[in-house]
Amino acid sequence: MALAVIGAGVTGLSFAKAYGNVPVFEANASLGGKALSYKVDTEAGTFGFDVGGHWFHHQSAPGALKLLDGLPLISHRRHAYVYLEGRLYDYPIQQSYKQNPSRSFVGRVDEELREIGGKKLQYSNYAEMLINSYGPTLYNAFFRDYNRKMFGKEELASIAAGKYETVRNVRLTGNTDGYNHAFLYPKGDAGAQAIPLHLSKHVNVSFNTGVQAISLSRKTMQLKHKNHAWETIVSTIPLPLLIRLISDIEPEYLRLAEQLTSSKGFILNMGIKKKPFHEHKSWVYFPELKYHFYRLGFYSNIEPLLAPSGYSSIYVECSPLHFNTKSEAQLLLPKIIQELTEIGIIDEADDIVALRTFYLEQNYCMPDQKITSVLHRYLESNGIYSIGRYGSWHWSSQHEDMQQAVQLAEYLQSRHADQAFRTERSSFVPMK
Ligand SMILES: Cc1cc2nc3c(=O)[nH]c(=O)nc-3n(C[C@H](O)[C@H](O)[C@H](O)COP(=O)(O)OP(=O)(O)OC[C@H]3O[C@@H](n4cnc5c(N)ncnc54)[C@H](O)[C@@H]3O)c2cc1C
Repeated sequence: MALAVIGAGVTGLSFAKAYGNVPVFEANASLGGKALSYKVDTEAGTFGFDVGGHWFHHQSAPGALKLLDGLPLISHRRHAYVYLEGRLYDYPIQQSYKQNPSRSFVGRVDEELREIGGKKLQYSNYAEMLINSYGPTLYNAFFRDYNRKMFGKEELASIAAGKYETVRNVRLTGNTDGYNHAFLYPKGDAGAQAIPLHLSKHVNVSFNTGVQAISLSRKTMQLKHKNHAWETIVSTIPLPLLIRLISDIEPEYLRLAEQLTSSKGFILNMGIKKKPFHEHKSWVYFPELKYHFYRLGFYSNIEPLLAPSGYSSIYVECSPLHFNTKSEAQLLLPKIIQELTEIGIIDEADDIVALRTFYLEQNYCMPDQKITSVLHRYLESNGIYSIGRYGSWHWSSQHEDMQQAVQLAEYLQSRHADQAFRTERSSFVPMK
């Protein structure tokens, strides 16, 4: 079977490694997609950065972990906080709200959580899922504005609560510590990109080889300098982009793909002088709307080799409520530096010795299973499997994407020609 993989991020590489001997076409000059790392040399020394926190949450993904055999990974416990009204609360807030000095606030939350108790949660969208999980007081104090800032959406009721939204809800999973209480990170100074680098061993990747067009009728794809014949494609690029690349797509599918939306991302990576605020923190959530970022974290608190002594290597995730384009995002920089100073993350702008920005056209995909299931079924009937966080168009993390890639590889290896392939996209279970 002439199989081709599009994209050398963790999903495409995991598929290629699990399946064996398939070409991977990658538009960029380097591996990893969003799991990219780089170094910046300064007079103070060398800093290492990823694209925001890229911690490997490994729960329930044995197939993904197996692909990482031989890669030295260190296990960490989350030290996360919520910064609210000038005070730090342990994260998650539904366990630490009693740290709030207001007795009436604590009393209200106690009562609301008691009332919710063991009730079965009913919800029809993301906002309802949160209110019905944690009660209106915690929703108003933390969940509402934090999520508005993260998704860049004023109206949380317009977001569907799909499988991955519920996996991240501790009330629904019963795992009170949350999905990210422990995580793995590569040992050494290679950063998160050590994972795709490890996956790429013995995988045949063609760099600078973006797929420019795909023909379903002729079963060819157009690369930079040649056409490539295929019978099956495993694509990991954003689903709407994949649909746009298909030259003979039926217009109704194009119209559906155009309705899929996502948030944008703007990450600041900074090398800064170390301050007491940085000590013992993995990351901190900032729900208040007055701050233009929603989360920041400390790479060098996880791997000290990522910053010179006396400095921290950090990421700041800016809220897409405040920008729609890269140039609009750049305009936020002075405000954000001012806010970091107010909070005590830096004393003054001169404490920043390295600053790099990273703009993402897609960060969080807004799930719409009605549309994605139609598109996936159409693609699969034409021999194209669109997987990973952006290929599926859902909110997964690396381990879930890798697991999905392994499942697809197993399915394609064992498939009989006459067997229909159906994926229930929220869980990606191939029908055997
Ligand atoms: C800010 C941020 C923070 C995150 N934090 C975490 C975290 O802490 N833990 C975690 O597990 N996950 C995290 N994730 C999610 C994680 O990044 C994704 O789950 C994972 O990287 C998706 O990998 P992928 O291979 O499916 O897609 P991508 O990484 O997007 O890879 C797709 C690849 O396709 C290539 N490509 C695009 N167009 C073409 C084309 N036309 N032809 C050929 N190649 C093309 C791209 O260059 C890219 O290399 C985070 C994501 C973001 C954005």
